[in-house]
Amino acid sequence: MFISKLFFPVLRDVSADAKLKSHQLMLKSGMIRQSTAGIYSWLPLGLKILKKITKIVCEEQDKIGAQEMLMPTIQSADIWKESGRYNDYGEEMLRIKDRQGRELLYGPTNEELITEIFRDNVKSYKSLPLILYHVQWKFRDEIRPRFGVMRCREFLMKDAYSFDLTKEDAIKSYNKMFLAYLRTFHRLELKALPLKASSGPIGGDSSHEFIILTDSGESQVYLDKALLDINIEKYDDSETSINAMVADYSKFYSATDEKYSKDEFESKVKKSDQVVTKGIEVGHIFYFGDKYSKPLKANILGKDGKNINSQMGSYGIGVSRLVAAVIEAKYNNNIMKWPLAIAPFEVAIIPLNNKSDPKSLDKGKKIYNELKANGIDVILDDTEESPASKFKNFELIGVPFQIIIGSKSVDDQFEFKELNGITENLSVSEIIIKIKKLKG
Ligand code: ATP
Ligand code: MG
Repeated sequence: MFISKLFFPVLRDVSADAKLKSHQLMLKSGMIRQSTAGIYSWLPLGLKILKKITKIVCEEQDKIGAQEMLMPTIQSADIWKESGRYNDYGEEMLRIKDRQGRELLYGPTNEELITEIFRDNVKSYKSLPLILYHVQWKFRDEIRPRFGVMRCREFLMKDAYSFDLTKEDAIKSYNKMFLAYLRTFHRLELKALPLKASSGPIGGDSSHEFIILTDSGESQVYLDKALLDINIEKYDDSETSINAMVADYSKFYSATDEKYSKDEFESKVKKSDQVVTKGIEVGHIFYFGDKYSKPLKANILGKDGKNINSQMGSYGIGVSRLVAAVIEAKYNNNIMKWPLAIAPFEVAIIPLNNKSDPKSLDKGKKIYNELKANGIDVILDDTEESPASKFKNFELIGVPFQIIIGSKSVDDQFEFKELNGITENLSVSEIIIKIKKLKG
């Protein structure tokens, strides 16, 4: 991409309603624009980051054997009446009637629809375990949409659903997803803590929320500081390792507001280890047995030839909320610090004097092609703006690395600068090796 071609409408004055830094920066840098309360358009920069996050989320789902599919945004009210949630869900659900007067709704979640698909197509225990997922827009008519894409009405969610024969197997699926979630957030360079949570309207027996600790979060959390020291890299995919991981996390007290008990917290965690803080919920997992398979009659033939209801779980990640959450967790000095894996561009090539020295732009284009050929996501500054305004643009976008072509670049050596970090003099091939290594 050449910056002169990028649709990147910078907003000079951000409305005072944008209270969170992530909201301000996303508007300012032209990542998003509000369409109406709590509903946003994603402009090219924002969409690029959203897609990179989605890809990581999907890769970690695929790794545990979950299969991607796609369900529609619009659902029939009938299945929600069957499960008994149609009336319970309340005003958060956007209800629609079509021209025939049929009752439809914009899906806030998909337990009913996936259970219907399972019921109609899976007949025997031999098809289990089964985990299906999709990444799709959801609508919840939040009473107070705010903080940009952090709490909006239309948002992108990855939701997965597991089907198992027994409770024991269902817990195995739950634990696998637990690990997949920790790995997903780790790849986004976020420390997300799994906290024991209540199940809310999804219902069920067991549930964890994955929360990133930041002062700007809306969730109140209570935990033992020892949880912060658990290193998820030490667990592999074996069942023993996954069980050890769950056991390690279960050893220490953690609770969200609804689960919190003052007595329990104070008796289990010594004063100096008590952490009481705020956080952003980026994921939520549930095990709920036959809560949906029973009313929707999703029966399968068990090993003994008898019909039984499958044991289910559901697992959500707020993909669009994650974009804002990464900014909240990592911004520094008004600058978005994107992890390389999701940065809108990995490197910016900045010829400083395109006007007085047209050769520098040619040099820039040559490096641009070399980096592209090596699979590096690169943006070239082909404008004649002043060096100061060029740097300002790339800071605003948050490109993690810059290659500067200026008076200091001799022969084949260029200044390679980390955003707000150190500068080295490197050749193009050294730069390529370095970026490839950082990308892993
Ligand atoms: P919250 O407590 O923040 O309202 P929730 O418990 O209602 O969330 P879930 O049903 O667990 O949400 O949905 C899964 C994930 O979807 C959440 O962990 C969150 O990251 C994301 N999410 C939920 N509601 C919103 C929203 N209004 N805007 C953006 N993301 C959301
Ligand atoms: Mg939740």
